[in-house]
Amino acid sequence: MLIFKNALVVDGSGQSAFAGDVALDGERIVAVGVVPVQPDDTVVDLQGKVIAPGFIDSHTHDDGYLLAHRDMTPKVSQGITSVVTGNCGISLAPLVHPNVPQPLDLLGPPELFRFERFGDWLQALKAQPAAVNVIALVGHTTLRVGVMADHQREATHAERAQMRALLTEALDEGAFGISTGTFYPPARHASTQELLDVCQPLKGRGAVYATHLRDEADDIVPAMQEALTVGREADCRVVFSHHKLAGERNHGRSAETLAMIQQASATQPVCVDCHPYPATSTMLRLDRVRLASRTMITWSTACPEAKGRDFSDLQRQWGLDDEETLARLSPAGAIYFLMDQGDVDRIFQFPLTMVGSDGLPFDPHPHPRQWGTFTRVLRRMVRECGLLSLEEAIHRMTGLACEQYGLDRRGRLEPGWFADLVVFDPQRVSDRATFEQPMQVSQGVEQVWVNGRQVWNGHQATGALPGQVLRRREPKLQ
Ligand SMILES: [Zn+2]
Repeated sequence: MLIFKNALVVDGSGQSAFAGDVALDGERIVAVGVVPVQPDDTVVDLQGKVIAPGFIDSHTHDDGYLLAHRDMTPKVSQGITSVVTGNCGISLAPLVHPNVPQPLDLLGPPELFRFERFGDWLQALKAQPAAVNVIALVGHTTLRVGVMADHQREATHAERAQMRALLTEALDEGAFGISTGTFYPPARHASTQELLDVCQPLKGRGAVYATHLRDEADDIVPAMQEALTVGREADCRVVFSHHKLAGERNHGRSAETLAMIQQASATQPVCVDCHPYPATSTMLRLDRVRLASRTMITWSTACPEAKGRDFSDLQRQWGLDDEETLARLSPAGAIYFLMDQGDVDRIFQFPLTMVGSDGLPFDPHPHPRQWGTFTRVLRRMVRECGLLSLEEAIHRMTGLACEQYGLDRRGRLEPGWFADLVVFDPQRVSDRATFEQPMQVSQGVEQVWVNGRQVWNGHQATGALPGQVLRRREPKLQ
């Protein structure tokens, strides 16, 4: 056995931390509490550092990054041991396409889009595992782009049937559910009825419907109602992705939207994911630029030198209006400062909020959330502001996410459960990534273990690649 001695055990359940030990044997936890040492055991004295279940990144766009950068340094360095992929309607598979439309290009270079079936991509991840486990969603936009040549209209009945067949296949092969992104051009013309028709195969599976809402600004309430309707009709769990109120005139309205989610939770399964920054990031689009107090370019194919620059500075320098500036930069990506920190803090204090980075891993000048989300929560929300207790914050990153996604024997420190673990110094743990210097490893995360193997040693990835493609717990048959 490997025994971590003298730890502060935060077990992921939300219960109070306690001083104790955690023992592993192979890929499993075998004991938690006071563990007697036998002669053959290896003992690691943690000297009061925290040991917790490995963090679940509930919202990522790591589908292609997992294949291209298997050590997953941006994630394991902040304590993440599992990632939920395929969010916002965009999954890498099933799609073979030489030139994907925006926002699918946020997932990485064109050569990554080479998987005809969802299961082919899962097979590639099994054949060449990454350092972290994968919880895979299939994207509605991906299905649409695969099935429809023209996306600027509703899908026909035949196209809906094709998407249903692809979704059924993906669910059978291991998808945890579907994501939608009707905010984005390739899915904007999908009606509620199209979503209902496509989502039919989710019924009775305990599956997830994760949605980047049609509108996160003035019309957020009807957009949320649409999502709740799909959840009820398709008998699935609604995940409100990166919940936010965009634009100054909507600041403060999280009080209203969270009350709505709270009320819905009495009659249907719902939850939220969120990251701790007041800025978001996606493809460059004018509606976002106009809502934001500041827009920073993350990449531009036409003007690579624009990365890290402010949109308004470029506009002034070029003497162009905003439409002309957009045309010169596109296709491009940007960070938008359009949320209120008060809303972000309130969303984090909501008991159904999980933590999801929403990072765009291939961006040349990414939003710092890809590298610092979880450690920023531990520094800012827990240690500096006291918005969440350490136990509650860890619960949101672990046990809560595992319950919501239906993961078996992960997310808590219990004998017989999988040994996904993080060890960190609660006084020192901090994000270092900033908007100016976004690709910075966090500090204070000393060890990370996935399925009983160490993937992070406090300074670098160890090279171990023990990540598994996780399967959804099937609902018990009555
Ligand atoms: Zn999104």
